Amino acid sequence: MPTLIESDERKSLRAAVAALGTRHGRNHDREALWSEAGKLGYLGVNLPEEYGGGGGGIADLSIVLEELGAAGCPLLMLVVSPAICGTVIARFGTERQKRDWLPGIADGTRTMAFGITEPDAGSNSHRITTTARRDGTDWLLTGRKVFISGVDLADATLVVGRTEDSRTGRLKPCLFIVPRDTPGFERRQIDMELQATEKQFELTFDDVRLPAEALVGGGPSHAFGSGGEDAGLLQLFAGLNPERVMTAAFAIGMGRYAVGRAVEYARDRTVWKAPIGAHQAIAHPLAQAHIDLELARLMMQKAAHLYDAGDDIGAGEAANMAKYAAGEACVRAVDTSVHTLGGNGLTREFGLASLITASRVARIAPVSREMILNYVSHQTLGLPKSY
Ligand SMILES: Cc1cc2nc3c(=O)[nH]c(=O)nc-3n(C[C@H](O)[C@H](O)[C@H](O)COP(=O)(O)OP(=O)(O)OC[C@H]3O[C@@H](n4cnc5c(N)ncnc54)[C@H](O)[C@@H]3O)c2cc1C
Repeated sequence: MPTLIESDERKSLRAAVAALGTRHGRNHDREALWSEAGKLGYLGVNLPEEYGGGGGGIADLSIVLEELGAAGCPLLMLVVSPAICGTVIARFGTERQKRDWLPGIADGTRTMAFGITEPDAGSNSHRITTTARRDGTDWLLTGRKVFISGVDLADATLVVGRTEDSRTGRLKPCLFIVPRDTPGFERRQIDMELQATEKQFELTFDDVRLPAEALVGGGPSHAFGSGGEDAGLLQLFAGLNPERVMTAAFAIGMGRYAVGRAVEYARDRTVWKAPIGAHQAIAHPLAQAHIDLELARLMMQKAAHLYDAGDDIGAGEAANMAKYAAGEACVRAVDTSVHTLGGNGLTREFGLASLITASRVARIAPVSREMILNYVSHQTLGLPKSY
């Protein structure tokens, strides 16, 4: 790839992370890989240097996730801990929250999960009802979340809730840091058809008592005063663009891994005179999958570049498109790869069949394919809304 698109420094990062991923491989020990990646500075490449990070951007962090994924060992919590939570705290946290959380998130010794999805709201996050009310200087948080990844691994969860605006009575979004063992904060593991060490949980908050400093950005005077009416919303959006870029990286890495295994197989497997990879019916879909993944990466790089340059609005559209393109490319790449292996595509030994389910994650989360098509229809093309 020309320097125009990726600097020499980023190419070196890519090569170094790829080497780490290759050493750990598909049957990796998540804890060992997380810890080594943290020590090498990869988990916090996007976080500010003054808080122990690498001083880079989401473009750098997406390289880390893509390359680990391409080696068969994606670290899903990279999407959540440094990308969403690290970004939100670095941009909007109080000095104390930054000092408490960023160095640990950067070196991997502390992890934060992120919870926005609710059972009765789903894709319609305007409908979330997890609510915080004041009790003296404390907050009492009540509500439910679903499909939240890695809550058991995380020291705390960044929970999107609402507080009542004292002037208008309207509920406004706000983010709370809820430590894992806070009384009243319960989790139940959801039985998912996914072979991953990161599990999904349903969460309940029953009058969970939190100190004032659990609110990202400090008290309401910070959240809704100096930061303006919609500071909570700004905080949320600041985290959602990195999340989409990182989900694209996750999908591209997985797609590359699958195509890599299929190409190896197609070069060797011979049932007629030539290896199956010589048949265009096998070769062309793999070539197409490779092209689709490259195109998705280009859009991901655009989104990351815009985000790192401070263009949140421009990054919003590009990050949605990148997530869409990468999710679709990943699903097709996995499907093609599984088919290339014939019966072996469905064996545990070759390890591709489980990717059929895993690849669907990038199509539905963190925002579904349809909701991105809705966004582009309305925001980009100016078409009317059906809902
Ligand atoms: C493995 C995994 C990990 C996850 N991790 C997290 C996490 O860490 N934190 C977190 O907060 N969430 C997480 N999620 C949740 C994820 O973000 C949601 O599943 C996603 O936002 C979709 O919400 P839903 O499942 O309620 O689907 P629904 O909103 O019920 O949608 C169901 C279907 O209807 C379609 N649909 C809905 N509305 C429209 C419309 N207006 N137009 C057209 N089609 C529509 C959707 O596209 C989808 O196909 C995770 C999910 C998975 C599967």
